[in-house]
Amino acid sequence: MDQNLRREIILDNYTNPANRKTIEDDAYIKVNTNNSSCIDNIDLFVKIKEGIIEDIKFTGEACAISTASTSIMTKELKGKTLEEAKMFIKDFYNMIEEEDYDRENLNEALAFDEIYKQANRKTCATLPYKGFEKALEIFEKE
Ligand code: ZN
Repeated sequence: MDQNLRREIILDNYTNPANRKTIEDDAYIKVNTNNSSCIDNIDLFVKIKEGIIEDIKFTGEACAISTASTSIMTKELKGKTLEEAKMFIKDFYNMIEEEDYDRENLNEALAFDEIYKQANRKTCATLPYKGFEKALEIFEKE
């Protein structure tokens, strides 16, 4: 991805994040995800209905990388089936770890395609996905 576009996507999602809102609704699974090596501390609210991710919201404090990654994740996973979401997350992790992945599947999340060059930022970029996986675990136990 072009360096300017990468920067623009991250800045846009940091300054004007999508789906940033506290939810008080039992239909949502609430999980916390945080990163001890950064300021990142995010609450995710995930609503799954009939195998579809109906909604995701988030609140909390986080750095630019983590906030942008969370904003992008909420937009990308919303409306996906659980299987599609798991594929997306797998592609995202593979990108971060420099393994093979489907570029076309990742859309705006491709803005993090060079984050592997900054090892300490990888945990910031993957933070929301770790949180989402926790929510999935809770959902699958219920
Ligand atoms: Zn961070």
